[in-house]
Amino acid sequence: MDKNIEILPISIFAPIIEIEDSFLTQKGVRLFLKREDLIHEHISGNKWRKLKYNLQKAKEENHSRILTFGGAFSNHIAATAYAAKVAHIESIGIIRGEENAINNPTLQFAREQGMKLHFISRSLYREKNNASYQEALKKDFGPFFLVPEGGANAYGMMGCCEIMNGYKESDFDIICCACGTGTTLSGIIHANTSKNTHIIGFPVLLDEKSIQENIILLNNNQIKSKWSLQANYTFGGYSKTNSALIHFIQSFTAKTGVPLDYIYTGKMLYGIYDMIEKEEIKRGTKVLAIHTGGLQGNLGFSYLKQKKE
Ligand SMILES: *Cc1c(COP(=O)(O)O)cnc(C)c1O
Repeated sequence: MDKNIEILPISIFAPIIEIEDSFLTQKGVRLFLKREDLIHEHISGNKWRKLKYNLQKAKEENHSRILTFGGAFSNHIAATAYAAKVAHIESIGIIRGEENAINNPTLQFAREQGMKLHFISRSLYREKNNASYQEALKKDFGPFFLVPEGGANAYGMMGCCEIMNGYKESDFDIICCACGTGTTLSGIIHANTSKNTHIIGFPVLLDEKSIQENIILLNNNQIKSKWSLQANYTFGGYSKTNSALIHFIQSFTAKTGVPLDYIYTGKMLYGIYDMIEKEEIKRGTKVLAIHTGGLQGNLGFSYLKQKKE
């Protein structure tokens, strides 16, 4: 595949910054943040990375349409809708039905980009990776290039191998990333050339085992990097929060000026701070956390809160 074709004409600006915080100084830990959230206002962070080679492949195979899956507040749906528009390709989003969310900000945004949305039940949604269901979708919508939920395939991983381009993993003792499917972490693991750097994934949902399996599968069962999953910071499951998490995110943003999302990056950073507090991350350690974006999801968070009030 010709890596020089730029399907998404977006310049990447994702610097590494150091977090200044008296807590970190006290503990003697240096914390750095890779600001992938700054890549783009709408196709931010790892979703841009994961779509890049998927869209390129769709174009190469002369598809005029992509189809993908997601929940009603999905960062992936928002990013795909926008990226497909920019790449001049039609997009269809198969959405896991949540009646109270049909007009939420994520889906409104996706519609505005021209994405065709199709709602299905939670039980049918479980068939999303099933070949016969996908054939049925082709009958309904015509031929398409399929991007799996979350961009979780080998093309998605390929894009994530580029996250550390221009930087050296060996400058950090630990590299951290939040995990939904584990595809982003797979790319970081795959591209890593530093023997001593420990790569830690923070699952944000309870199914740690499927994340582990996906990472091993995407790496063809050949992992040389030192890596592990830290599953103590799921907060009870996907999109679950509590007041400690909300308070942490608000105070982190107030102190550093860096916005976090409640689903992914907030949980990862809460975990990193907690591990530093407990000295599981020791004095003298240099930690790099990947800010994978996801800030559009915060609109959904306030939308649901408003609906409840
Ligand atoms: C989707 C998403 C993730 C999870 O990425 P995976 O590759 O599925 O593990 C992490 N952070 C943010 C902000 C996301 O939107």
